[in-house]
Amino acid sequence: MNNHVTVLEIDGNALEHNLHYFKNKLHQKTKILAVVKAFGYGSDAAKVASFLKDKVDYFAVAYAHEGTALRKAKIATPILVLHPQIQNFNQIVRDQLEPSIYNLKTLTEFLAYAEEQELLSYPIHLKFNTGLNRLGLSKADIPLIMNAIDGSEHVKIKSILSHLAASEDANERVFTLKQLHNFKEIIKEVYEYLDYTPIAHTLNTSGVINYPEAQFDMVRIGIGLYGFGNDKKETSQLKNSHILRSIISQTHSVKKGETVGYNRAFIANVDATIATIPIGHADGLSRKLGNGNGSVTIHNQRAPIIGNVCMDMMMVDITNINCKEGDNVFIFKTQEDILNISSVSETISYEVLTLISQRIKRMLIY
Ligand SMILES: *Cc1c(COP(=O)(O)O)cnc(C)c1O
Repeated sequence: MNNHVTVLEIDGNALEHNLHYFKNKLHQKTKILAVVKAFGYGSDAAKVASFLKDKVDYFAVAYAHEGTALRKAKIATPILVLHPQIQNFNQIVRDQLEPSIYNLKTLTEFLAYAEEQELLSYPIHLKFNTGLNRLGLSKADIPLIMNAIDGSEHVKIKSILSHLAASEDANERVFTLKQLHNFKEIIKEVYEYLDYTPIAHTLNTSGVINYPEAQFDMVRIGIGLYGFGNDKKETSQLKNSHILRSIISQTHSVKKGETVGYNRAFIANVDATIATIPIGHADGLSRKLGNGNGSVTIHNQRAPIIGNVCMDMMMVDITNINCKEGDNVFIFKTQEDILNISSVSETISYEVLTLISQRIKRMLIY
C-alpha cells in the first residue's frame, strides 16, 4: 500500500466534463476512443479506464503490457495497442488486445500467428503513414497488404487509421489537409477489397478541435481528456484532471546570509522562513524549477521554489505565508499551474503530466 503524503488526485468530474466537451463537438454517432497510454498520461490508466469504461467505445495504449494492466483491472472495453511488437503476440491474443498493424513485417507475422493459433476473425487495425513518417503502412503497399489478408478467416480488419503530424499548428494547415486527403484515398482503396466496412479514424485532440470535418467514424482523445486543448481558449473550456498535492514536512527559520540546500544555491538576503516539501526531481519535477523559477501554492498563496530541487524534496520560501508543518501544498492544481511548470521546464503539458513518478500515490476523486 502506497501511503505517501504526496498524492496525485485524478479528478473524475474533470474527465467526464472534458469527455462531454468533445462529444458535443462531434456527430452523435462518432465513436470515442480514450487514449490512456503512459499510465493515463501520468495518472493511473486503470483508475481512468474504470471510471470511463461505460462512457467510451475504445481505449488505446501504446504497448501490450499497458493493455494487460487494464485487463487485470477488469476492463472489458476493446483496447487498441498502438505500438505492438511481434514478441507480444501471445500476450496480445491472451488478453484480447487489438494490434495496430503498422508495417509489412508485423502484418505477415501476425497473419502467420493467427493461422497457427487457428484464431477466428481476430480484430486487427491497419495503420497507414500519411506524412508523420513514424509508424504506418504505405499506400503503395495496399494491393500487397490486402492480398495477404484476402480471404483470411483468421483476422478481421476492425479499423483503418492514421495519425496527424501537426494538427495543433494552424501554420501547417495545408500539410494537414494533404494528410487527410491521403487518408481518404487510402480508405477508399482498402474498402474496395472488402465486403465489410472497417471504421476509420485519424483525429487526436487537436485534430478534433481544428478539423472536426475529418472525424470519420471515431476520434482518439488523449490530452484533451486530461484538460488541455491546443490553445488558451480551448483549454479554458476544459477542466484539469491532474492535481498534485503534498504537505509541509518541516519549516526552518534562516537568518540573513544563511544558505539553503545543495550547493548553497539559495542565500537569504533577509531573515526568511522556508518549508521542505516531500517531492523532488526524481518525481518528475525539473531542476529548472529551482532558484525561484517555479512555485507551489500554500493557502492560496505562491511560495517560490528556492535553491536546487533535490531528488526527493525541495524547499520553498514561506516567509510571507501563514502556514505550519503538516499544512497542504499544491504543486499544481490548475491548468495554468501545469502550463507554468511546462514553460519553465521548457517542455509541453504532455511531458509534465507523464513524468509524474510512480512512487507518488494516485487517487481518483469525483
Ligand atoms: C498519443 C496518441 C493520440 C492522442 O493524442 P492527443 O494529442 O493526446 O489527443 C492519438 N493517436 C495516436 C496514434 C497517439 O499516439
